[in-house]
Amino acid sequence: MRAGETLRDNNNNEVCLFPLEYLHISQGEHQQYAIDFLGWGANGRIYDCGCYAPFTGSVVYTGNDHNMIFWSSNPVRCVDDTLSDITILVAHSNTAPAGIGTTFLQGSLFYHTGNYGVSTGDHLHMEVALGHVRWDTTGTHLLNPSHMWDVMAVNDTVIDSGMGYNWREYYRPTPPTPSKPHRFPWPVYARILREKKTYKSSNN
Ligand SMILES: [Zn+2]
Repeated sequence: MRAGETLRDNNNNEVCLFPLEYLHISQGEHQQYAIDFLGWGANGRIYDCGCYAPFTGSVVYTGNDHNMIFWSSNPVRCVDDTLSDITILVAHSNTAPAGIGTTFLQGSLFYHTGNYGVSTGDHLHMEVALGHVRWDTTGTHLLNPSHMWDVMAVNDTVIDSGMGYNWREYYRPTPPTPSKPHRFPWPVYARILREKKTYKSSNN
């Protein structure tokens, strides 16, 4: 997604967007469904790269590795067409994340890539889950995580290194064309005519 971008479906639900302008994976799925991304741009690597809120929501947890758990304010349309509350976990920004209770509107700057904590280079560690969840009992990933490519739409995102995962853009479904109204559907009209004829003939 681009800075400030917002997207809604036909029912005015926000559509979950991928939070970076370029999608460049440095490590595929690990710790369940987490993926690591590098900050990237037209001229290559970007350190301390801005990440935008994929939907409107608020911070519910911050902890080790400057990680942050972010919950949607309302149900969000996923790229696979599921409508659900969504939880995002991000980690490793160099600066401390926003405090618990902070709200970010979709498209606003909400985090940065970084190298803080258990990390070997500047990146964004991210995980998504359906529903409003927190840590799994192992403390290494969210409860009920989902494959990111089933949740986040990559509209206006440059896929630079997607590792062959099924990244998709969201398109608003075209509403069905209403059929033309028929005052007298032909079969009914035909039956009325036939009944009139029968009535006439019985009178003759
Ligand atoms: Zn990671």
